[in-house]
Amino acid sequence: MTILLEGKTLSAQIRAELPDRVANIRLEAGREPHLSAVQSSEDDAASIYLNKEMEACRKIGISCRAYPVDSKTTPEEFTDLLKTISSSPLTDAVLVPRPLPKQLEQVPVCDLITPEKDIDGASTYNMGRLFLCKNFREIAAAGLFVPCTALAVVRLMRHHEITISGARIAVVGRSSTVGKPLAHMLSCLDATATLCHSRTVDLPQVLKTCDIVISAIGKARWLKPDMIKEGATVIDVGTNTDDKGIFCGDADFEALKPLASAITPVPGGVGPVTLSCLLENIIKAAEANFRR
Ligand code: NAP
Repeated sequence: MTILLEGKTLSAQIRAELPDRVANIRLEAGREPHLSAVQSSEDDAASIYLNKEMEACRKIGISCRAYPVDSKTTPEEFTDLLKTISSSPLTDAVLVPRPLPKQLEQVPVCDLITPEKDIDGASTYNMGRLFLCKNFREIAAAGLFVPCTALAVVRLMRHHEITISGARIAVVGRSSTVGKPLAHMLSCLDATATLCHSRTVDLPQVLKTCDIVISAIGKARWLKPDMIKEGATVIDVGTNTDDKGIFCGDADFEALKPLASAITPVPGGVGPVTLSCLLENIIKAAEANFRR
């Protein structure tokens, strides 16, 4: 029987202790934890997702403010904005979702977010430190912020007791927010992780050799049964809308289910865990901020 790697239970477990931590911050710091987020009006999907994140924040008592950017925002204005929100003592957490308007892509966001407020692990410091770690103990001890989606995948796999150590794992997609840090984190857990991308030669051949296939490419129902080996575990990070407007993952869930030993649903798999990791990181940043 195929195991459904649902994310709602783990997500609820992570969130369960957050309201008490928020209450404690309010008591000790005399204010709510605060998130400052950049909101691009150029990308509807990212903007809708950010609104969802801010709604989840407000529900547990985190205050939020979105700073809009668009095609008219200059790189200089964007740089000043990031410096201002990062240095404000009232901002505990900074989030800069991608994609950004084209003219802002050249701005070195990773050097402008204060590492202590960098809740999605995008800064040069957090990313650099992550890649210097060679096992998970070092990652935990370093007190870093690591990219939430990559962390969510690892936590979801551990929650469902998927064996990582010794497994051959393909991570498809090499973005610095998901695929790259995820492949590194899995190798820190003693998996043999292969990072695949659009130029990988004979990709289905590579995937067929793997015990676990993780897809993070952003293409609706791209992963098909003839691309995995029988009994493989499929983790679907993708969030897409198909040509009928239906929300779906990168994996062809219905077609893969009879073949896979375990598979994440979309929605209800990695997504809710990512959001909970983000909320947890905002509170972790706020606790550190008021204790400084
Ligand atoms: P991204 O920055 O656009 O990167 C996409 C990656 O996929 C690139 O490395 C690209 O290869 C690779 N790729 C594209 N087409 C491919 C193909 N046909 N075969 C193999 N590789 C291919 O995307 P991202 O930001 O990492 O996001 C990926 C997906 O995850 C999106 O659907 C996004 O919405 C979703 N996401 C979900 C969550 C969640 O919590 N569930 C969080 C974040 C993102 P090249 O490098 O060669 O171009």
